[in-house]
Amino acid sequence: MSKRSFITNTFMCKCPRCQQGDLYIKPFSFAKPVDMPENCPECGQSFLPEPGFYYGAMFLSYIVSGFFFLGVVGLCIIGFGMTVNAAMGVLVIVALLVYFPLLRCSRSLWINLMVRYDADAVKNKQSET
Ligand SMILES: [Zn+2]
Repeated sequence: MSKRSFITNTFMCKCPRCQQGDLYIKPFSFAKPVDMPENCPECGQSFLPEPGFYYGAMFLSYIVSGFFFLGVVGLCIIGFGMTVNAAMGVLVIVALLVYFPLLRCSRSLWINLMVRYDADAVKNKQSET
């Protein structure tokens, strides 16, 4: 399998090391939106390398959502000529729709920043067992 781009892999929420294993347990559950397996099922990469590892993802989520919401409001006001109150109404709806995807993508972005891609990760795991 060829190397996927960093951004594509982040949005697909795949393991950063092998780019094959899923970061999150499927199917999606509103009760546990960021439930992850302890290790990648394909390559064995730990998804919780240390306690509090995803604390940094909180800051990324804040930055990404801030600029995204600014863009949404800017588009509504400048692009569609809406009033500020109408734009805020649209923003609330958009924020509700993208809350869980943003939460998951920020955690995915954080682990993708911290763990490098390894083309032989799956082969190495198979040879160990
Ligand atoms: Zn993996």
